[in-house]
Amino acid sequence: MEGRATEHVRADEVARRGLMFVLSSPSGAGKTTLSRKLLAADAGLDLSISVTTRPPRAGEVDGRDYWFIDQARFDAMVAQGGLLESARVFDHNYGTPRAPVETALVKGRDVLFDIDWQGTQQLRESARDDLVSVFVLPPSVAELERRLRTRALDSEEVIQRRMTKAADEMSHWAEYDYVIVNRDIEQAFEQVKSILAAERLRRTRQVGLLGFVRGLAGDLTS
Ligand code: 5GP
Repeated sequence: MEGRATEHVRADEVARRGLMFVLSSPSGAGKTTLSRKLLAADAGLDLSISVTTRPPRAGEVDGRDYWFIDQARFDAMVAQGGLLESARVFDHNYGTPRAPVETALVKGRDVLFDIDWQGTQQLRESARDDLVSVFVLPPSVAELERRLRTRALDSEEVIQRRMTKAADEMSHWAEYDYVIVNRDIEQAFEQVKSILAAERLRRTRQVGLLGFVRGLAGDLTS
């Protein structure tokens, strides 16, 4: 917006650096549903599609849910610095490809991440100013287990492992900027949208403000 100082610039045109919006939760707390709803409702948000060495589940599509890659390709991406963060979860490797995120942020687009606490910690170390992290808690452990069972995606053994992992994941809630208890998906969705709306208005993210305000000042004095 610099260089347009004397034009009338609408406030929603102020150039902005994108933010990295992380949603973490134990599986079954509603993070995936919240992500889908947010992406459907918000045209300014891109999903970061992770790479993973885990095999696709029924219905999962390569390039939409994940990039499904083998261990050699994963190792090569790590070695080339091609991942912003990576972690081992449930015996498989997961990571966030760097290039699409960096391109989106520079364009002022926001990026949504469905990653675990390990990845969030790494992003906090490397990109604190761009990061907004939200932890989604289930209303109770019984409800968490019920949701894992009703989605019927996993074997009994995997459900038990997910329940064990849930305790570990939940122990990291205090490392997040925001915490939402997902009692009701619509209410949780409204809360997530409010966080995103407020964080977009942070002065430090609105990199075009200086030019915009100069334009306002110019219009007042001309
Ligand atoms: P799932 O295999 O059920 O899709 O995911 C298992 C866990 O891995 C979830 O908690 C999910 O948030 C996390 N995850 C998915 N992609 C990434 C990633 O790129 N990095 C990290 N650190 N965690 C991820």
